[in-house]
Amino acid sequence: MIYLDYAATTPVDGEVLDAMMPYLKDDFGNPDSTHAAGRSAARAVSEARAKVAEALGVNPLEVYFTSGGTEADNWAVRCLGTGRAAVSAVEHAAVLEGAKLREEGFDLIPVSAGGLITPEAVCSALKPDTGLVCVMAANNETGTVEPLKEISEICKERGIVLFSDCVQASLLDLRELTGLCGAVALSGHKIYAPKGTGALVVKKGVKLRPLIAGGEQERALRGGTLNVAGIVGFAVALERAQRERQRYAAHCKTLRDLFEDKVKAAFGDRVRMDGENRLPNISHLTFVSAPDALLAKLDLAGLCVSGGAACSSHSALPSHVMLAMGRSEKEAKHGVRFSFGKETTEEEILQAVKILTECIK
Ligand code: PLP
Repeated sequence: MIYLDYAATTPVDGEVLDAMMPYLKDDFGNPDSTHAAGRSAARAVSEARAKVAEALGVNPLEVYFTSGGTEADNWAVRCLGTGRAAVSAVEHAAVLEGAKLREEGFDLIPVSAGGLITPEAVCSALKPDTGLVCVMAANNETGTVEPLKEISEICKERGIVLFSDCVQASLLDLRELTGLCGAVALSGHKIYAPKGTGALVVKKGVKLRPLIAGGEQERALRGGTLNVAGIVGFAVALERAQRERQRYAAHCKTLRDLFEDKVKAAFGDRVRMDGENRLPNISHLTFVSAPDALLAKLDLAGLCVSGGAACSSHSALPSHVMLAMGRSEKEAKHGVRFSFGKETTEEEILQAVKILTECIK
């Protein structure tokens, strides 16, 4: 099996697993308990919070642990700031569907054919009572990196909170991105930590209402016993992802470029590479005349890739990202996303192109 779907999920790193193990078995206390076992778990959470804060350049009290990116996105788009939200049309479903539940309502920000959210498009989507702008740092289908610096200036000038889904942005400088935003969302399983882990980071002074009512956890803003082992693993993975990000990015870029060169050589103008200003680890292709069930054929031939976002791959609907970029319904159903990880090898790339060529033939 060749796995080129690291944007869907990653395996857990050995170092991450080792850090988690004690909290799954022997050191199993509830961090809210006041006895020694609880205090030990609470200490682990507090150290993890400090590690996450250090990796992002924020205060530990600005970090709220969640069950992953979907919860962080929902929480942000429903409960941050006041007034209407302006939400880019290429956001992950967790933001777009969450926005429908925002009491004050929301407006869509259109994108360019390359998937870029221009500062002008943001400005024209703003209403007098817009209090929140949601623009992801990098798109999960195309890898397009959005101009958050310019967008953050627009928001600052107008006193609007900028929230960014940074789930796919671990190859970028997360300290810089966090510095530009009022809040960011992160997910553990995209960065070699377990599924069901992540965080919403909200800067001091930004209004945040609770989404999950319950206990007093996370400064009484997010009820639920903390996933101690998951939090410990997430912190180790985030610290490592940022420390090694230039090396990982260079590795992915070399392989992504090799992949795209080979694909261009094999298919010429029968294939289009979607998106502009892209992350180094994602390649989204649309074939001019893709055979039916291409993904299933690739799967049978041993190649694991996605048709856009993994979480909507059971749906026969066209990709909302491709539609927002102006593609036809047919084209928006036939995209294939290849995404590369730190374990990906040149051998796998060459083999993947061979499989792709045979399946398209
Ligand atoms: N946001 C983006 C951009 C994603 O790619 C994903 C996952 O695919 C999510 C949010 C959801 O994260 P999680 O799977 O941790 O709920």
